Amino acid sequence: MRIVLFGPPGVGKGTQARLLAERRGLAHISTGVILRQAMRDDTPVGREARDYVNAGRLVPGAIVRKLAEDAIARNGYDNFVLDGYPRTLEQAAWLQAFLEAHEAPLHAVLSLQVPDEVIVDRLSKRRVHRETGENFHLDFKPPPEGIDPALIVQRPDDRPEAIRKRLEVYRAETSPVEQFYETRGLLYRIDGVGSFEDVYRRIVNLLERVVSPEPGRVGKSGTV
Ligand code: AMP
Repeated sequence: MRIVLFGPPGVGKGTQARLLAERRGLAHISTGVILRQAMRDDTPVGREARDYVNAGRLVPGAIVRKLAEDAIARNGYDNFVLDGYPRTLEQAAWLQAFLEAHEAPLHAVLSLQVPDEVIVDRLSKRRVHRETGENFHLDFKPPPEGIDPALIVQRPDDRPEAIRKRLEVYRAETSPVEQFYETRGLLYRIDGVGSFEDVYRRIVNLLERVVSPEPGRVGKSGTV
């Protein structure tokens, strides 16, 4: 199964993609996760991306294109959920050409729908574990007691100024990608409000209806 989880920052793409990885064996390919890891490792890609990511701006397309394509290739072009890629029409066209060249077209693009005020609340109250990358929410999923508070941090791009910028970038550059997939008959909208289990159930129900299983094609699982 080859799917994209689509939607604005904070809509829950990462959480749902991780659940699909754990429970359905799909490879979770997140360009944001790969970039943050590269920043932590202080690699050349990480150094190039740092200022863009921290300010909530898009990293130059050529960089993320290579990261996404390498991750898809490593997984054998199948059984993946893309999270945070593509984010522009240009990236959507690159992805389409890349997957077509490997005879592995997308099955579905799931667009999670959540009102803006919910998004701002989720992002501003999100905290992450510095080492494992696990996400918490100050109200709904607080970090466990006893954990060293120094390990629980706020992403620099979850501060109010960067949140505003990310939502602006989403409206201007990313939301047209929805139309790209709608005209190709691949887009499915899913209500993203509710508990993560509720949203997960909606996603799985939809996938069972629209994606027929392909026997014999098995990829690796896990978060990339
Ligand atoms: P995310 O974890 O998906 O919210 O991504 C965090 C940040 O990484 C974004 O705000 C961008 O700075 C950068 N980024 C991730 N994916 C992309 C992409 N497909 N194109 C450009 N920048 C990206």
